[in-house]
Amino acid sequence: MSGLAALRSELGDIECLEDPAMRRLMSRDFFWYSPVLKRQLDRVIADLVIVPRDEAEVVRVMRACHKHRVAVTPRGAGTGNYGQAMPVEGGIVLDLSRLSEIKEIGFGRVRAGTGAKIGAIDAAAQAHSRQELRMHPSTARTATIGGFVCGGSGGVGSITWGGLRDRGNILSLRLVTLEEEPRTLVLAGEDIQKAIHAYGTTGVVTEVEMPLAPAYPWVDVIVGFPDFLASAAFGNALAAQDALLKKLVTPVAAPIPELYFRQFSDVIPAGMSVVLVMVAPFAFDALSDLAAVWNGKILYRRGGEQASTHLPPLFELSWNHTTLQALKRDRTITYHQILYPPPRHLELVERMHRRFGEEVLSHLEFVRFDGQVACFGLPLIRFTTEERLAEITEIFEAEGCPTFSPHHFTLEEGGMKRVDQIQLAFKREADPLGLLNPGKMLAWRNPDYDASRQKVHLFAGAEPQS
Ligand SMILES: Cc1cc2nc3c(=O)[nH]c(=O)nc-3n(C[C@H](O)[C@H](O)[C@H](O)COP(=O)(O)OP(=O)(O)OC[C@H]3O[C@@H](n4cnc5c(N)ncnc54)[C@H](O)[C@@H]3O)c2cc1C
Repeated sequence: MSGLAALRSELGDIECLEDPAMRRLMSRDFFWYSPVLKRQLDRVIADLVIVPRDEAEVVRVMRACHKHRVAVTPRGAGTGNYGQAMPVEGGIVLDLSRLSEIKEIGFGRVRAGTGAKIGAIDAAAQAHSRQELRMHPSTARTATIGGFVCGGSGGVGSITWGGLRDRGNILSLRLVTLEEEPRTLVLAGEDIQKAIHAYGTTGVVTEVEMPLAPAYPWVDVIVGFPDFLASAAFGNALAAQDALLKKLVTPVAAPIPELYFRQFSDVIPAGMSVVLVMVAPFAFDALSDLAAVWNGKILYRRGGEQASTHLPPLFELSWNHTTLQALKRDRTITYHQILYPPPRHLELVERMHRRFGEEVLSHLEFVRFDGQVACFGLPLIRFTTEERLAEITEIFEAEGCPTFSPHHFTLEEGGMKRVDQIQLAFKREADPLGLLNPGKMLAWRNPDYDASRQKVHLFAGAEPQS
């Protein structure tokens, strides 16, 4: 009997999906945003999809996979963008979406199963005590909390709270190892670094404890500017207003709104650049005053306690939803992920915006980064060739803007995560056979892998930094 057949027969009543169409569906994420990953990964398919109901079943699956030497790729909702949840070397996809119980909500914290949807956690915390998660990806309606912690980086809320990389933004994790006798570990403090943004290469997370913030009926506001650089300057000024409570500051260059935010064509005049903003209701007047000082025009306001319209929430135009809106209209678009390091971020934004013109359309997300205001760029790129894409990356890097590649599926080449010796030592312990999401961690197979090219990491690892 093959390892897989033996595994299958040992799992008893744990649900397994064998149908090829289902296996293919469950082996994909949003990798196709990248033409490079689309070429490389389009045929990836799991041999089997296993859907455990609880942690005890996860432990049983892990024990059996160790015994039969079968690779395991964990999956939340499969909304990642870099092929993170794709089984590039086959084996099983472990669908964790059923571990979705919201277990405990307290003052300032929530404990939930890894498969809980982020939007569901927010709704429960809101109903319980008018609280919400500090930040969420723009995919909050579909993504799981475990997938966010293991494959995401930050998003709506990062302008106030920073990213998942920041100490205090994840409180603890429960994680199951892939050993002969799997262990269930609770990681807290610095140990969290061993599992976050590791694509599930160091264990399967079954439960997450996150901090909560006060929930407000956030007001969506679009501020218009005739010129993108004016919108970026306003975004920067707004981002620095610590007393003006906000959740989103997103400058988007013309012609993106006109071409791709079609649902908003009645409110955004052609040729305008915009800043998408979410503010607490009591901060709206201060925002409005600031916009007037910067010659911005309030084009749209929705929210507070009452209003809802047929239009989507603004966060679904932000972060990587900007790319999604563009891809709905034009499949030749791709994107990049750039950091404009402070304090020169605005100067760099201007330089890169002028340099590329229409080939690279600017889209910024202001965040708190190591205590300072900074911005990420998620520019839309009119794709021509892979060589030109690589050239664009090199130009950003040479100008002092680190890139985090959405066109690579390994941790190291993606560049957000630093795979340090502590991370590797933990992997040796937790996954001695290297069966967890194989192919995603280059340093596992080549411990001398030279990561020195990448100087800036979002997730810097647990080793002390010089
Ligand atoms: C339109 C769009 C917008 C997006 N916006 C954002 C954004 O604003 N911010 C952001 O950070 N990301 C964003 N993303 C990426 C992604 O949606 C988020 O990171 C999301 O939180 C991933 O959750 P998921 O449940 O879909 O995870 P998946 O895609 O299923 O998994 C992500 C990674 O985590 C691993 N994993 C999942 N669950 C576990 C587990 N229990 N244990 C161990 N490993 C696990 C998977 O193997 C994979 O490597 C966006 C993607 C799209 C398509």
